[in-house]
Amino acid sequence: MGPSRREFLLGTAAAGAALMLDGLEARAAAPAPAQAPAKATQVASIYRHKVGDMAVTSFMDGYLVRPLTVLPDGNTDEGKKLLAENFMDTAQFQFPVNCHAVAAGGRLLVVDTGCRNVLGPTAGRFHGLLRAAGYDPAKVSTVLLTHMHPDHVSGLVSPEGQALFPNAEVVVHENEWKHWHSDENMNKVPEAARGAFKFARAGGAPYKGRLRLISKDGEVAPGITAVACPGHTPGHTAFLVSSSGARLLIWGDIVNVQPLQFLRPAWAATFDVIKPLAVQSRKRIFDMASQERLTIAGTHLGFPGIGNVTKRGSEYGFIPARWQDL
Ligand SMILES: [Zn+2]
Repeated sequence: MGPSRREFLLGTAAAGAALMLDGLEARAAAPAPAQAPAKATQVASIYRHKVGDMAVTSFMDGYLVRPLTVLPDGNTDEGKKLLAENFMDTAQFQFPVNCHAVAAGGRLLVVDTGCRNVLGPTAGRFHGLLRAAGYDPAKVSTVLLTHMHPDHVSGLVSPEGQALFPNAEVVVHENEWKHWHSDENMNKVPEAARGAFKFARAGGAPYKGRLRLISKDGEVAPGITAVACPGHTPGHTAFLVSSSGARLLIWGDIVNVQPLQFLRPAWAATFDVIKPLAVQSRKRIFDMASQERLTIAGTHLGFPGIGNVTKRGSEYGFIPARWQDL
C-alpha cells in the first residue's frame, strides 16, 4: 500500500512539525473544499535568509492591534493622512511581531521569543513555527534579547514559568535587566504600565543562573555583534550577524509603526521609555543601514521584515528584500 493521502501531503519527516500548525492536518486530510474555509490558518510564516554561511530564519509570531494613541503623532491630521496615503488602517495600528533564529557553525541562537499567549490570540506562534522549521528549542545554545518588553520575552517561559529553552543562556544588556528588575522604576510608572515589569521578570526568572549581561558593543557569539540602540528601552540592543562578507542587522523596536517612523523618524511611541534617545538611536541606525547598504531585519516590519533602508532628505524608506531561494 502506498502512503496515505495525509502521509503523501505532509511527508513523514514533516508530519510531526505539521501537527504544530493548528488545524492544518485536518484540512489536509479532508477533500478539497469548493470554497476557502471560513477560518484558515496561514502557513507562510517561516522565511529563511542566507547570510554568508549562516542561515537566519524569520518567524511571524503574529500581530498586535493597538490604538493610534500609542504613537501620538500618528493620531494627528498629518499622521492620519500619511496612514491613508500608505494604504494603512487610519483607526488603529497593526504591529507584526517577528522573531529570529540564527544557525551558525553548528550553533543555534534565537533573537527574541515572541508573545506566547500573554497578549491575545493573534500572536504567540513562534514556538510552534520554530519546531515546524525543524529546530529543537532544547538545542538552542543562546537567546539574544533585543530588550525585555512582553512581545520579546514571553516566549522564554511556559505559563507555569518553566524555561522553554532548557539549555540556553540568555544574553541581554545590563541596563535592560536592571531597569525591569528595579522596584523603584516599577513604582514610578502608573499601575497600568506595571505589567511590563511583571512579564520581564517572569521571562528572565528561570534563566538567572545562565544569564550573560553585556555592557558594551562587541561580539556576543561567533559572527554576532551587539550594537546598542538605547531609548525604546534603556538597554535596547540590535545584533549584527556577519559571515563571509555578508551582513544582516537584526533590530528590535527601532521601528514600531511601518511606514510612519521611516517617513517621520522623530515620532516616538508612548511605550518608548526614553523618547529623545529612542529617536536619536532610530536615526543613527537608519543612517548606518542606509549609508552602509546594510540589510536589516525588524521585529515589527511586515513579515518577513527583511530589507534595506533608503534615505531621501530627512525621510527614510524601507525596501523589502527580494525572495531568496536556498
Ligand atoms: Zn516590540
